[in-house]
Amino acid sequence: METGGSPSAAVKKTSLTPKAIIYQKFDSKACYVVEEVRESTENGCPGLAIPQKGSYLYRCCLQLPEFSVESGTFRKKKDAEQSAAEMALEKLGIHPTTSNPTAWEARDELVARLSYLFSNKFLSSLHPLSGHFRAAFQRRGHLTGLVPVSVIATYDVKLSTLCKYIDPEVESNSLLVMSLILRAAARLRGSVSTSEEQLSMKRQDPYSPEIIDSVVNQQSCFPECIWIEAIRIPYSVEKTVEPLTLTVSSNGYYMDVIAQELGVTDASKVLISRTIGKAASETRLYFCAPKSYPLDPSELLHAKKAVQFEGSLNARASYFSGQVIYGDAILASIGYTWKSTDLCHEDVSLRTYYRIFRSKIPSGLYKMSREAILAAELPVAFTTRTNWRGSFPRELLCAFCRQHRLSEPVFSPISNCLESFPELHGSCNKVKVTESGKEESDGGGIAVGGGEPVGSRQTFRCEVKIFSKCQDLIIQCSPKESYKKRTDAIQNASLKVLSWLNTYFKEPDMSLDKLTSSGDVLDIRFYPQNFFKEFELCLSVHNVWQSIGTQGGRLSDSNSMNQLDDMVGASMCPINIEGPDSGVSPSHGSLACICYTISLVREGELMKELLESSEDFEFEIGTGAVIAHLEGVVTQMSVGQSAFFYMELPPQELILAAAGESARTLSLLSSKGCSLEYSITLLQVTEPLEDRMEQALFNPPLSKQRVEYALQHIKESYATSLVDFGCGSGSLLDSLLNNLISLETVVGVDISQKGLARAAKTLHSKLNTISDVIMGSTGIKSAVLYEGSITVFDSRLYGFDIGTCLEVIEHMEEDEACLFGDIVLSSFCPRILIVSTPNYEYNVILQRSIPQSQEDDPDEKTQSRTCKFRNHDHKFEWTREQFNSWASDLAARHNYSVEFSGVGGFANVEPGFASQIAVFRRGDDPLKNVDSAHHYQVIWEWNSSQVSRSAL
Ligand code: SAH
Ligand code: MG
Repeated sequence: METGGSPSAAVKKTSLTPKAIIYQKFDSKACYVVEEVRESTENGCPGLAIPQKGSYLYRCCLQLPEFSVESGTFRKKKDAEQSAAEMALEKLGIHPTTSNPTAWEARDELVARLSYLFSNKFLSSLHPLSGHFRAAFQRRGHLTGLVPVSVIATYDVKLSTLCKYIDPEVESNSLLVMSLILRAAARLRGSVSTSEEQLSMKRQDPYSPEIIDSVVNQQSCFPECIWIEAIRIPYSVEKTVEPLTLTVSSNGYYMDVIAQELGVTDASKVLISRTIGKAASETRLYFCAPKSYPLDPSELLHAKKAVQFEGSLNARASYFSGQVIYGDAILASIGYTWKSTDLCHEDVSLRTYYRIFRSKIPSGLYKMSREAILAAELPVAFTTRTNWRGSFPRELLCAFCRQHRLSEPVFSPISNCLESFPELHGSCNKVKVTESGKEESDGGGIAVGGGEPVGSRQTFRCEVKIFSKCQDLIIQCSPKESYKKRTDAIQNASLKVLSWLNTYFKEPDMSLDKLTSSGDVLDIRFYPQNFFKEFELCLSVHNVWQSIGTQGGRLSDSNSMNQLDDMVGASMCPINIEGPDSGVSPSHGSLACICYTISLVREGELMKELLESSEDFEFEIGTGAVIAHLEGVVTQMSVGQSAFFYMELPPQELILAAAGESARTLSLLSSKGCSLEYSITLLQVTEPLEDRMEQALFNPPLSKQRVEYALQHIKESYATSLVDFGCGSGSLLDSLLNNLISLETVVGVDISQKGLARAAKTLHSKLNTISDVIMGSTGIKSAVLYEGSITVFDSRLYGFDIGTCLEVIEHMEEDEACLFGDIVLSSFCPRILIVSTPNYEYNVILQRSIPQSQEDDPDEKTQSRTCKFRNHDHKFEWTREQFNSWASDLAARHNYSVEFSGVGGFANVEPGFASQIAVFRRGDDPLKNVDSAHHYQVIWEWNSSQVSRSAL
């Protein structure tokens, strides 16, 4: 369900999208973080009778230097991004038509803005800054009413935007904003005064007591005291970070509490960083202002040395924020919001801290995107989109660049023409690839007419360049591999860069030669001078991680768990595999689905702390998508079996990033003899050969062509009711709803709860997009999903106009498939029945033409040869002759006619269609009285009256 409205018409009218305007203003300082959210069980799909997790929607958080906004949820990422951009523009008060002020105008506007901030009106407004003005009244003695300049500089977006017009340098120099503000305040002398130390401001004429009363009373429901968990980051990297609690009383000012923790007199001495980590959060670093610095902006710029900070550089805090921070710093999530007068806060735990830290490196970003810090690893290879799990390499690379305040990566896809099958395809059409070109969706290759195999007439390579903020080239990757899809080429190149960066972060003190040669392997060139300038702090920060990793009394001489288990691997940890061998084992290139728990245990004792678990974790075998030892174990298992094993501890910071209970975990870790206990069960193995072949070779993909085929028949027959036997996750039903057709009733049946739940969610959200239904783009009146076997009759599905059964029978044993044939024609009696199934004879072509884009892995080749059928789950695949004889006999027995057809390939060209199809038509009306037989269970149900009632 889309909770966010569509971007408003007003903005759409201008030629620039909200995102484009944001880009113009903020360039790469605008950070879009798209988050996958699962629809919650209740509002995801009411009435679904299967326990469910909800489908994925996207929410976008747009982080700008001064604030961030979060969109509603959308089906499409780009809608979420545009919506967030639009919200940000609104907040910035930017109307697409107004032009930028000149520096002089901005100076005047700055004064006006400041004067407004000290007005009565602002005091009672809802604004993150107005909360500070109100809280200032609670400050005692000479501090009463004083607002720190750092706060004004941080929380008023308009003001900082104006400062940018005056001097773009403010981006990199946070003190400069403060001095510009103080200068503007000087022009307000008489109405606004600055304090002695000149780091806070106050209104000269006091606010009237009534006004103060009214705003202070607003906060009456505030509890006596709140406790906020925060993290102290000592400037010395030798000292570990530690949790601390900020106690903010209802009549206190939280900035003063932070000041106290930092050992300074009051809030005006505290500076605030930009937001850290997840863009939506208010997590920031708080640190001491320099002892002295010139307040004249020009001096400040040119004489940076004049700024005297207390203490030494805080490498970790500076690394976190990309700002220069001296002395101890406090990481906390606290502040006023746009929505209420209350102080908002979130606890920042050690876990949060280590997660943010981990997110700075590629493997950490990937682990986070999979919510599997201890199990997942950044895969070493990109095979296909369908096999990749978690954020895609391109997104990860963009996120990485934002984290390190680099420019967005520049991708340059290059198209090549390869006429590897000239006899089949004739001459090659050049396809123009524009850099800004749209990303093809999954399965959308280069358009080639009419369902013939695409072959490899067009391939793509992609070059990636990473630039610093000031556009110095840092890294360039020019992969040799070609891909059939532009997007795959981009993903591949992105992954190479990520992999190389990962090797650097694992060993930041690696010699230049080693770093260069590891780049060579990945087709990467890097520019050491620029590179080390940008990653200056990594060395001190990351070396510390490694020493932290050894604190538990165990020596792990590497930050990499992969290497760790290569060393201690199977030889040291006996693996217990339990359960009968089902014979179905994951092989290279297949997807394994496991459920697992990882716990911290102490030898010989019953001390156990759960660190990480998942009930449904899928990964591709052979790409290093999980830690090596785990993958090694899984390949030894068969479906249904469980395994247990122990491993030595990975670095402590990794454990803390996973652990929910840092205190308990830490106390366990402090004792000797701890290890990690892994417990896994192999739930399922999917051989993705079929998908891969279908998607790579056909355009549109075969699955789409089957749906199109069915649609054609629905249109021609004016069918009003349809049942999809073996509907799976509802791809056919879903596309029916996109088309203007005669159908009023659609039903799906399947035995798979997982598939049905997915189908329900798709249909639910589509059908409840009110406009579609009321405005009548579909005439659907009712939709039902049943759980049940299609070899069993259910009278509710009797006599439908059309029955479809696409790529289902081969998933049953042959005798069951025959049983289904008899039952469907004798009992369900649809007017038309469409059955599709793979043509076994076509497999030679599919297997011959599997994309060879990856390094040719001899293993994989033999795999595809030994896999007899297109999919592990197929119980049989029929030749054309077998299928014809089954269908003809069946039709004859039940007074149906049958015609043969197919999709992918041609009827009269050997070896026929890739997917063969039989269309059965009923000879006469059965006019039977069917006994009521309800064997299926309603899983989900939808009615058009439901919607119109609630909509009207
Ligand atoms: N028709 C769908 C799904 C094909 S996959 C599509 O074209 O995308 C095959 C489906 O058949 C699976 O969802 C499986 O659960 C279902 N299936 C297998 N045996 C079945 C049976 N006896 N009764 C109902 N569904 C069955
Ligand atoms: Mg199949």
